[in-house]
Amino acid sequence: MLEVKNAKMMYGDLVAVDHLSFTLQPGAIFGLLGTNGAGKTTTFRMIMGLIEPTEGEVLLDGHPISYADVNDIGYMIEERSLLTKITVKELMLYFGQLKDMEPSLILERLDYWLKRFNIVSYKNKKIKELSKGNQQKIQFIAALINNPRLLVLDEPFSGLDPINTELFVDVIHDFKKHGSMVVFSSHQLDHVEKFCEEVIVLEKGKAVIEGKLSDIKKAFKKHKIKIIGNIDIEKLRAIPGVYDVEQNLIETTVRIENESVSKAVFDYVKTCDHIIKYDVEQASLSEIFIAKVGQHHEEV
Ligand code: ATP
Repeated sequence: MLEVKNAKMMYGDLVAVDHLSFTLQPGAIFGLLGTNGAGKTTTFRMIMGLIEPTEGEVLLDGHPISYADVNDIGYMIEERSLLTKITVKELMLYFGQLKDMEPSLILERLDYWLKRFNIVSYKNKKIKELSKGNQQKIQFIAALINNPRLLVLDEPFSGLDPINTELFVDVIHDFKKHGSMVVFSSHQLDHVEKFCEEVIVLEKGKAVIEGKLSDIKKAFKKHKIKIIGNIDIEKLRAIPGVYDVEQNLIETTVRIENESVSKAVFDYVKTCDHIIKYDVEQASLSEIFIAKVGQHHEEV
């Protein structure tokens, strides 16, 4: 179990992380989310013992995490700077041996991961010859090569195409299945909610949303309705409890104060022609974030 307890980190006068607490049980996938500069990397550096929290502590199975735990941990840093002049095989031997692995085991696992990531032919290529996305796969493999019990991934998906994103997500799920703890950061809130069970959304170092995604969504009363058909948006706007109506070329989005308003909207829509779609949806995580911290962070 990983416990971050009341962790605070200050750089001079700047509070980068402000009394953050969370717990990860074996088999958990945990998302640490937030805008640029929210404090995600700082939190990971505290977890990895690279910086000492100003207050609070980080415990792995009840003891303060330290370099002695390195063989159980995989860390993918946000910076994509790998040792570029050596080959993929040399790099993996280097990282694996830092974690006390036998070269034969490193190479066996490397072959498995290169195959899984469809990059077998890159084994003897220099890192600098690989595309950015493929370098990212190598960095991911370097974090996984020791089958870590705790996998810490700083922005693992940034810059990946959808197919490779799915590949990464599948691997994360496999680690979960085998009881590892996975914590990753992202600023792509809507992407994360497809596979993450528990999240903390940070804003200026403070947790502004936290808990199980299903509970967070349930607690947020506002919903939206997506409609495709011949409707009069002014009539929708006049329905009590409707607070916003937006229309693009294809569909209309009706935002409502709570789920019960959908009945009145439906009663109106039933009177219209050619209705192709009528869907009531929960708010997305980024909509909840914007509602809580304001419009100025719409880029999340
Ligand atoms: P991003 O998504 O942009 O990577 P982040 O959520 O990972 O951001 P951090 O890198 O943890 O955010 O930074 C949190 C805050 O601490 C920022 O205001 C940043 O400028 C500041 N900061 C980070 N590292 C240092 C440092 N070494 N010295 C001083 N300030 C720092």
